[in-house]
Amino acid sequence: MTEAMRTFEGIRRVVVKVGTNVLTRNDQIDEEYIHELAGQIVALRENDREVCVVTSGAIGLGARELGIGGRVQDVVLRQACAAVGQPLLMQVYRDVFARFGVRTGQVLLTREVLNHRRSYVRLRNAVERLLELGVLPIFNENDSVAVAEIGRNFGDNDQLSALIASKVDAELLILLSDVPGYYSADPRVDPGAVLYDTIDNVTPEMIADAGTAGSTVGTGGMATKLKAVKIAAEGGCRVVLAHGRDQRVLERLLAGETVGTVFASRRRLRNRSRWILHSAPRGRITVDAGAMEAIRHHKSLLPSGIISVEGVFQAGDVVQVNDAAKLVTAFDSRELAAIAGKHTSEAEEILSRDKNRRIIARPENMVFFDEDWDDPTVDGDNT
Ligand code: GLU
Repeated sequence: MTEAMRTFEGIRRVVVKVGTNVLTRNDQIDEEYIHELAGQIVALRENDREVCVVTSGAIGLGARELGIGGRVQDVVLRQACAAVGQPLLMQVYRDVFARFGVRTGQVLLTREVLNHRRSYVRLRNAVERLLELGVLPIFNENDSVAVAEIGRNFGDNDQLSALIASKVDAELLILLSDVPGYYSADPRVDPGAVLYDTIDNVTPEMIADAGTAGSTVGTGGMATKLKAVKIAAEGGCRVVLAHGRDQRVLERLLAGETVGTVFASRRRLRNRSRWILHSAPRGRITVDAGAMEAIRHHKSLLPSGIISVEGVFQAGDVVQVNDAAKLVTAFDSRELAAIAGKHTSEAEEILSRDKNRRIIARPENMVFFDEDWDDPTVDGDNT
C-alpha cells in the first residue's frame, strides 16, 4: 500500500497550494523562494504534468502595503487588504514565471461560485481552456467579496484548494505548508511525535484532535488540512502535506522520495455527486425512517416521507437530508412545506402539477456522507 501511495508516475494533473507562511519571510513576500518554487513547477510542466496553483498571501501583502501591522482581524479591513494585496501577489507570480517563459492567469473564487451548478461547470471549462493555452492558472479566494458571516467564504485556502482539485479532476493535491507533514502528536510540545509517511483514512477523531493541540500557525491549521484531504479524497485525488521550504520538494516527492505525508484517495464520486456533496446546503429536510431506508436503496424521495422543512431555498438548490445526505431538490421550500407528509396524489393536487413533478429527488441527485455508500451512477456524465 505504502509503495503504491508513493508512486506518482501516472499522475497528470496536479494542484499545488502554497500557504502564506511559506510565501513570506519576516512578513515580506519572499521572491527568491517563489522563483525557486516556480522553477520546480515549470519542471513539472515540462514533465507533461498539468499544474494549477492555489496561493494565499493577498491579505498579508495588502496589509503590509497599507502599513497595517499584526494580524488583520476585522472582516471589512481584511477585504480591503485583499483588494490591495491580490494584484501585488499576482504581479510577483507574473514576473517570476515570465523568467521561465510561462504565462499566468488569475482565477478568484467564492464559495457561491462553487455552490451554483452553472458557474461551477463554467469554471471548469475556463480552467481547461487556460491549461490548453499553456497558461498556469493561479487561484485564490476572492476575499474582497467573500463574506464570512453568511457562510459565503471558504476562510482558508486548504479547503478551497481541495475543492479546486476535485473540480478539475486533479489526481494529486500538494499542500505546501510550514510543517513537514502529519504527526502523531504536536511536535512542538511532544518530542516523541512521529511523522507519518502515509495515511489511509482521515477519521473524525483525527480532525477533532488536530483542532486543539496539533494546529500550525496561519489561517489553515491541521484540522482544515485534514478536512481538505477528505474533500480531495472523495474526488479520487491523493493529497500530500509537505514543508514548502524543503529543498526541491516537488521534484523529490514526485520521484517517490519519502517527503511529507501522503493521504490516500477514496471513492471516486461522479463530478455531479462531488458538487452536491461539497455545496453548502441552503436548507434542511427531515425525513422519516421509511423514506431514509428507501433512498438508501437508491429510490427516489417522495413527499410522503418528509417530516419537516427548514430554510428558504429554490428548486435546484442543494439541501441536507437528516444527518445522512445531501440532495438537489426539485421543489422550492414553500412547495415542499406544503406537500410534506402528503401522499403522492394529494401532493399532485396541491401543486396541480403533472405526475413527473411528484418526485423531490431522484437517486442520481443525492449523495450520502458515509464512504461505503456506492454512487449509483459512478463514472457517468462528467459535468
Ligand atoms: N485567501 C487568503 C489570502 O490570500 C488566505 C487564506 C489562507 O491563509 O488559507 O490572503
